Amino acid sequence: MEPVPASPAAGGGTDGASLGTRFRVFPQPPYVPGYEKPEVVWLSLPPGRITAGPADRRMYVANPVEPKVPYFFPELPPYAGRLRPPAEPGPDGHFDYLEPGTDGFLDAHVYACVRRVLDICEGYVGREIPWYFEPTVDRLEIVPRIPEWDNAQSGFGYLELGESDRADRRSCYGLNFDAIAHEVGHLVLLGEIGLPEDGEGGPDFLAYHEAVADFLSLLGLLHFDTALDRLLRRTRGNLLLENELDRFAETSNERQIRTFSNSLRLGDVSREVHDRSRPFGGALFDSLIEVHQALLYDRGLSDIDPRRFSDLRRQMEPSLIERALADDAAAYEFRHFAVKAALAEARDIVGEALVRSWPRLDPYDLDFATAAEAFLVAVDRGRGRPFAPQIEDCFGWRGIFEPT
Ligand SMILES: [Zn+2]
Repeated sequence: MEPVPASPAAGGGTDGASLGTRFRVFPQPPYVPGYEKPEVVWLSLPPGRITAGPADRRMYVANPVEPKVPYFFPELPPYAGRLRPPAEPGPDGHFDYLEPGTDGFLDAHVYACVRRVLDICEGYVGREIPWYFEPTVDRLEIVPRIPEWDNAQSGFGYLELGESDRADRRSCYGLNFDAIAHEVGHLVLLGEIGLPEDGEGGPDFLAYHEAVADFLSLLGLLHFDTALDRLLRRTRGNLLLENELDRFAETSNERQIRTFSNSLRLGDVSREVHDRSRPFGGALFDSLIEVHQALLYDRGLSDIDPRRFSDLRRQMEPSLIERALADDAAAYEFRHFAVKAALAEARDIVGEALVRSWPRLDPYDLDFATAAEAFLVAVDRGRGRPFAPQIEDCFGWRGIFEPT
């Protein structure tokens, strides 16, 4: 790479304004077909505000030399052992010069995933989201790799990542956007609604956490061009099919889609938190599909008006599904960019309402019905208003919320 002299306009701005800082991120782990190459993303902070580490005002990467023992209460960061040399920005202040597999790439990758999800959530709420552990710990410590620890966890001031020990697919969680985004989801939600003193909160506090962490991971995925293009071209723009037909969902390459493609109602699941999170997560996913499908119909991009069905998942006529499946790829291609724009809009309508619903939640009596109500209020007060009745149906159908 040609060195470029650093200058105040290095970020691409002309008057000191910045376009952000470039990093390269894998939208899915690189072993997933179609995602072998990382994508360039722009983080919100200008070059120079992200220093060696990478590090910024809110977070820093600490990559230990010796295998670190995962944090366990009451241990707190900062990590006191020896650290590897930090990843340095290039001469232009950007980090996208780092090649996968070289020193510093993993550090930059993990940092970029965390910062990206925080950027997205702060964009939805329109202000900074504090860490729940401030001011005891003022910055998030990110440990990009703990060898021989098959886990990822976030806690009081830290987010740390192990590596998957599946012999056929040995890989760092640090290269897994999904796993990182899930952990950031927990941190962001705690920052907005707080941590109950007993650590448990209302009856569905923990299950709601899991549903939201997974859904934020999906929203994060849908911010990658690679993911939008691949998902839409594979389904010819019809995510309903991805949702509707198990044979699509089971083979979906993106874990985030597989997680949400379920038809579970609240009465179908156990009290185990991950199990219990699935109907609510499914209802959020259905809301996204409903809004996308309604936008497509209104714009003449689809024949299927989801408002004709109170339960899109069950009632859609087989002939419509077949017709959509028969749509050939060449015909879809002429609609691709319009369909993609509608998906980005649906993503932001649902994402914004979800994040904006949090200040209405009390962690001490959080259950799925009150969480659904808060979400519906946020939908109704935001850009999602025209779709509120459909979204209410999604939650009613799941047995979460009694339709009015
Ligand atoms: Zn979790």
